[in-house]
Amino acid sequence: MLVLKFGGTSVGTSESIRRVARITTENLHRSPVVVLSAMNGVTDSLLLSARAAARGEEAESSAALERLRDRHRQAARECVVEPYLEPLLACLDNTLDALGKVFSALALLREASPRSLDLVAAHGERLSCALLVGTLCSQGIAAETLAAEALVKTDDNFGEAMPSMELTSEAAREFLLPVLARGAVPVVPGFAGATIDGVTTTLGRGGSDYTATILGAALGAHEVWIYSDTDGVLTADPKVVPEARPLPHLSYAEARELSFFGAKVIHPRTVLPAMDHQFPVRVRNSFNPSFEGTAITVHGERSGQSVKSIAYTRDISTVTVEGSGRPGGPRVAGRALGVLERLFTDAFLTNASSPEQNLSFVLPTSKAGSVVRGLREEFAEEIRRGEVRHIERQDGLGVFACVGEALGDTSGIGARVFGVLGRLGVSVHGFAQAPSGTSFSFVVDADRLDEAVRALHEEFIGREAAR
Ligand code: ASP
Ligand code: MG
Repeated sequence: MLVLKFGGTSVGTSESIRRVARITTENLHRSPVVVLSAMNGVTDSLLLSARAAARGEEAESSAALERLRDRHRQAARECVVEPYLEPLLACLDNTLDALGKVFSALALLREASPRSLDLVAAHGERLSCALLVGTLCSQGIAAETLAAEALVKTDDNFGEAMPSMELTSEAAREFLLPVLARGAVPVVPGFAGATIDGVTTTLGRGGSDYTATILGAALGAHEVWIYSDTDGVLTADPKVVPEARPLPHLSYAEARELSFFGAKVIHPRTVLPAMDHQFPVRVRNSFNPSFEGTAITVHGERSGQSVKSIAYTRDISTVTVEGSGRPGGPRVAGRALGVLERLFTDAFLTNASSPEQNLSFVLPTSKAGSVVRGLREEFAEEIRRGEVRHIERQDGLGVFACVGEALGDTSGIGARVFGVLGRLGVSVHGFAQAPSGTSFSFVVDADRLDEAVRALHEEFIGREAAR
């Protein structure tokens, strides 16, 4: 059994959808389970429309809904023939009409809670799945779509829900195995799931990749192939480093670090189920299907290269808790981390010299406000007594990470990074080494981030001969 997952650009046009159908057909002998993203741009548009509706701007959300209808209906007409076309058009209309009702409700209530946003966002994948099922059936391939809500069971952390592997495995086996046994291709909407009460959740932006490995683990898949629009995982983001090239092998740890620090090609939690169940994840290009892409496995490959790839994230802030430095003052670290946990916020890294006194978290700017508020509440008493001097944020930063299994055992990496940054005159606002030694990460001013990434790519990767 093989899980094939296709991202938004891979299902973004009728031509791409036909290409996805072809890749699926070529792998029929492997009993594929297909997981899809929404057509590219659809999730963004759904979320914008939901927020517009909640502001009472229903004209805007209705117009967006009609644009979605046109786009999906057009793709349907270009990919699907009768007797499948008419029921497909009806199904697209039903889904979009239901969504229209949700928008009206949001406009009435003037609210778009994380829970409502998840309900709205989950519609994009339903639409793309209906299109692919119609396309496959039109080509004589039996295919059926299932509800993500019936398969992926999660907690109720809306917007970033965590799956229960146990309940999901049970449900996935119950509902997917019979479809495979009938000789049909199951087509599953990625990204969405549901609580045990059946309330729709999502796994976080980009979460369809995670759906693929969750189902792979649940079903004991031999491999999971994640198709996007690049030739696998690259040595850097090609938008910043045009000479970036694909990597044939990565270890789970390397892939996890890269996605954690912002490599967009796979969702950060994607490799976790693969690590637990030890199946390879291959990242491939649906627009270049004969290319092998990147194989992500336990050991990856010790290529002799220290830094294999560089990932980055923009819009970063630091939030600092500064104690008074007096002996016997409050112990800051545990309580501060507790605040982050309550806010479901992961820091990219922490800076600390005496962590029980002073600590700063490096996190997305979008989370900085709530973390500052949470910390000021937590330490209100200590602030009043002068035992915590201040809790402050600094915006306008970026973080990048040099990633490679061999980094921890290679001497001089840090010196080379600081050397390059020093020559550029880029100052470092924080750095950390992953305990595994797989990544070295650095915080710099946002406006120097691209230049730093390019220079380090040149230092560690660019000079080595192209493949
Ligand atoms: N469609 C969702 C998103 O845009 C999930 C995904 O594509 O993986 O975030
Ligand atoms: Mg994606």
